[in-house]
Formats: sequence, structure tokens, C-alpha cells
Amino acid sequence: MLQLTGVRKAFGDNVVLDGIDLTVSAGQMVCLIGASGSGKSTLLRCMNLLEPIDDGAILLDGTDISEPGRDPQPVRTRIGMVFQSYNLFPHMTARANVELAPRRVRGQSGAALSDRVAALFARFGLADRMEHYPDQLSGGQQQRVAIIRALAMAPEIMLFDEITSALDPELVGEVLDVLRQLRAEGMTMVLATHEMGFARELADTVCFLDRGRILESGPPARIFETPQEPRTRAFLSRVL
Ligand code: ATP
Ligand code: MG
Repeated sequence: MLQLTGVRKAFGDNVVLDGIDLTVSAGQMVCLIGASGSGKSTLLRCMNLLEPIDDGAILLDGTDISEPGRDPQPVRTRIGMVFQSYNLFPHMTARANVELAPRRVRGQSGAALSDRVAALFARFGLADRMEHYPDQLSGGQQQRVAIIRALAMAPEIMLFDEITSALDPELVGEVLDVLRQLRAEGMTMVLATHEMGFARELADTVCFLDRGRILESGPPARIFETPQEPRTRAFLSRVL
């Protein structure tokens, strides 16, 4: 379980997260929605310790992971993150990209690693693309490799930041299918997304972020059908 209490983050004078309280229970999918600049990416980056927070706390299974000076690496192996730009190394095959972190960070190697990685590629329908280089893969396939790369560290929680935003529309579906599959397998997930239909279909909780605050949160049916806050209604009327 991931628990945020009173999380505050500013860049200079710009208060980007202004007292975020959020609990992500095991097996839940939480979707963050909100206008550009509302703080979705920053919130995910704080959860993964890519950004230090200024105030509040982030607890992972009850342990405060947000204390300054803490080594972020163990946390990042437990909380995986996938970005809009998949950033695969172009000179390495899909398989080598996926094996890199388990080798370097976990010291894994040999048949145990290659079998586990091959099983991940097979699980997500990419068994025949393992030895391809990124430029030999479609954008959707590259993004699926990026997801597999994060899963190879066996994380307990996965964070996804607009992972379909850079894809051609016809490739979005295959990436959302991977998320559907992870959801069905019980992965704990937090997504920043512009895919409202997807959030509505699969999220347990939808959080509407507005100027660094969670203005409103709840089950998708409630947020999308009976939003209580005028700013939520205004946002949804623009995007739905
Ligand atoms: P989008 O939908 O466009 O991805 P977002 O909700 O993810 O937006 P953030 O990227 O979290 O929004 O940005 C929130 C605010 O924080 C913005 O005002 C942005 O300019 C600012 N910000 C983000 N990262 C930094 C940084 N490294 N330095 C300074 N300001 C930043
Ligand atoms: Mg963002």
C-alpha cells in the first residue's frame, strides 16, 4: 500500500503539489486526471522519488520513503515507472534493454534471467520481437517493451505517465490492452492519463487534480457522471 499525506512540492514560487492525501491499496488502479500543469507528472515523480518533496510523507507499506537523504534505488525497484517517451537504448535489442536493470541493479544473469525475460515477452505478445532493435519496432511495441522493462524488476507498484500520448491512435489500443492485462493480474497501478474512456472502464478511483490539489476523487462512475465541483465539471466538459 502506498500512502501520501500532506504532500507538498514547489519549484521556486510555483507550488505544484499543495497538500496531497492519497491512498493506493494493493491491487487497486488509481487514475489521475486534470488539466495540463495540474501536477500529475510531478505527483508520480514524487512517488518514485525522482523529485524530493518539501513537506508531508510518502509511506510504502507503512515505511516513510520520503525522508531526505534516503537511497532511492531500493524504492525504485519496488515502484516501477513508465513514461510517455519510452527511452529504449537504440543500440540494444529489446531483450538487452529489458535485461539491463536486472543485471546491473539486481545482479541477475544466466538462464534464470533470460527465461524470466522471455516469459515476460511471451506474456505480452512480443515473443517474436525480443531480438529486434527499437527502430525495428512500432511505437506501440516499443512502449510495450518499456513496460516489460519496468516489470522485469518485479515491482509491487507501477506508475504510468501518459504512456499512450505519443502514440499514433491506432497503436494506443495495444498498449491499453497491456494495462488491462496487468489490472486483471492484480497489479497495483497509478496512471496519469488523458484516456477518459479507459479510466472510466478500469479505475477503482479517479482523482481530479487541479492546481496541485486533489479537488475531487471517487469511483469513476461518480466522478464522470455526477462531478460535484464546478472545476471538475468544466474540465470534463472540455475533454469528454
Ligand atoms: P501535463 O498534462 O501537461 O503532463 P501535468 O499535470 O503532468 O501536466 P506537471 O508536469 O506535473 O503537470 O507540472 C506541474 C507544474 O510544475 C507546471 O507548472 C510545471 O511547469 C511545473 N514543473 C514541473 N516540473 C518542473 C521542474 N523540473 N522545474 C520547474 N517547474 C516544473
Ligand atoms: Mg504530465
